[in-house]
Amino acid sequence: MKIAIASGKGGAGKTSVTASLARVWDAPLVAVDTDAEAPNLHLFLHPTMEQSRTSWLTVPEMDPEKCVHCEKCRDICTYKAIASFAGRISLFPDMCHGCGGCFAVCPSGALRRGRRELGVLEQGTALEGKVRFLMGRTRIGESMTPPLLREEHALLARMLEEIPADALLDAPPGVSCPTVTVTRDVDAVLLVADPTPFGFYDFTLAHKAFLPLGRPMFVVINRAGAEGNEEGDEAVRAYCREHGLPLLAALPFEREAAEQYAGGRLLADLSPAWRERFVALRDALREAFSRAMEEKEGGHA
Ligand code: SF4
Ligand code: SF4
Repeated sequence: MKIAIASGKGGAGKTSVTASLARVWDAPLVAVDTDAEAPNLHLFLHPTMEQSRTSWLTVPEMDPEKCVHCEKCRDICTYKAIASFAGRISLFPDMCHGCGGCFAVCPSGALRRGRRELGVLEQGTALEGKVRFLMGRTRIGESMTPPLLREEHALLARMLEEIPADALLDAPPGVSCPTVTVTRDVDAVLLVADPTPFGFYDFTLAHKAFLPLGRPMFVVINRAGAEGNEEGDEAVRAYCREHGLPLLAALPFEREAAEQYAGGRLLADLSPAWRERFVALRDALREAFSRAMEEKEGGHA
């Protein structure tokens, strides 16, 4: 099973949950950091990187000698990456989305295939070699993340084909394009809910944003039971009840745990009680996933 661990905002605890679930996973696993604009899963899992490859986007380059100034390339480019000034064609490769339209309409072969670096994909192993690790990292200054994420997903598919395994994907925060790119290609989504007023609002946004994708969704409350925030916990629970969202666990707020986590320690390593919480979450996730698959198959029968 491929599970995206997502939240409507940064700081809800999805990386923390992903890392600790990886620690207690008792089957072959690939841990994937898809938060390519600010990857940090490696800070907790400390992988040994074994391979790295650069990801490129095909963008046009022009041979002015061959250009007949028909402007067809400019007309087809909806991203304004091609402009015409005083009859001269100018290209803005940083704005190119790589659709290939300009190559298709150019009548004179004036456009060559150039490339723009999107970022890098790194592979390795973590947790004493028990977990395979994959991470995307967007080039600084690059504005487009989805093509890199699609390549990362294709690489993950090959890794899973070579050695079958489960995959836990630490999703980008929020509900923008990168997050949808990641969540549309998984089997289920585990939503990490931060029960503060802002966190609750963003959690509901995430639920609504992912709903059209038709993936089973489950919930884990992070930092539950914080003093003075009883209403926040109850708001998440009530929302889950109202929307039929399985609430798999409520991880308690503990100041000491938060401090240790800030220092890069895995929650699952803090104490036997913390480890047990993640073992229980792992088992609840598997069970909820199997139930969701059975319901889906029952619905198709
Ligand atoms: S490949 Fe597409 S987005 Fe890029 S310059 Fe050509 S038409 Fe525009
Ligand atoms: S489509 Fe080709 S020939 Fe026409 S303006 Fe663009 S580069 Fe020049």
